[in-house]
Amino acid sequence: MKVLVAGGAGYIGSVTTERLCDAGHDVTVLDNLERGHREAVDSRAAFVQADLRKPDELDAALQKVRPEAVIHFAAYIEVGESMTDPLPFFENNVSGSLNLMKAMVAAECKKLIFSSTCATYGTPKKMPMDETLPQKPESVYGESKLLCEKIFEWAGQIHGVECVFLRYFNACGATEKYGEAHNPESHLIPLVLQVPMGQREKIFIFGEDYETRDGTCVRDYIHIKDLAQAHILAHKPGIAGAFNLGNGDGYTVKEVIDVCREVTGHPIPAESQPRRAGDCTALVADATKAKTVLGWDPQHTDLKEIVQSAWSWHQAHPTGY
Ligand code: UDP
Repeated sequence: MKVLVAGGAGYIGSVTTERLCDAGHDVTVLDNLERGHREAVDSRAAFVQADLRKPDELDAALQKVRPEAVIHFAAYIEVGESMTDPLPFFENNVSGSLNLMKAMVAAECKKLIFSSTCATYGTPKKMPMDETLPQKPESVYGESKLLCEKIFEWAGQIHGVECVFLRYFNACGATEKYGEAHNPESHLIPLVLQVPMGQREKIFIFGEDYETRDGTCVRDYIHIKDLAQAHILAHKPGIAGAFNLGNGDGYTVKEVIDVCREVTGHPIPAESQPRRAGDCTALVADATKAKTVLGWDPQHTDLKEIVQSAWSWHQAHPTGY
């Protein structure tokens, strides 16, 4: 299948591109390289440098490639940043996605797999979280992704584009070649691993007064390889709608730090800080729908294995790409 991967030079995009190439697909990565890395693009994939905010660049790329499916990862992703500088999130994530859908319709592309997030739900009324929960985002990041879902849903219905929304919980871990290299980094596991790497003195814990077993936030950490696999499964004709992707196990921030201490053998000092704006208390997936409808079968669910894969990658790539 001819697939265009928007944002394929980023973390989840790079691993999904690798898996798509492994599966024999004809892949073109489109990325503006603002936050992605050219080195993170599998050498078997073609590469186009283009920006979602520039419709001409997008149109030219889509008309040239004429993909049968688009997988769309390209976005600003940091919750904390979205709460201090919101407008670029609407411009890049929402306007950019609108431009992408317009270009897809013009190029008669009939399938979209969209990188969405559990942050579209806000604080859930039940746990674990399935797809029937109301979507009430508590961060600009979550809102920007929800707005994209709405645009895609209507455009998909009216223009006959099959749209799949993969709502990720906390992506983490690495393959041998590709890992997490955001600059600046904001995600828990890579930040914790910077301590044993000698790149930071200690890890800050954002909030110890949540109503959880140890006062810190609970998240569902899912291996990037398993996430990538869901994108391959979502290509099947007839697959549409939203799917939560997580393990169904929640870990607190302190538990994650403990697993990092165990894997790295480093004491990893931690210091308590106030809560970070936009953070929900607990987010844990019920991925029954993905398992039954997509046939998704996560293989790397052990947090220790996930952290080990990230640790190996960071040791091999101490400064990222
Ligand atoms: N977190 C933390 N210290 C950090 C980074 C993150 O305590 O230096 C917490 C954050 O407040 C959240 C959890 O770790 O409760 C996961 O945050 P991350 O940014 O990795 O993912 P998110 O859940 O925001 O998508």
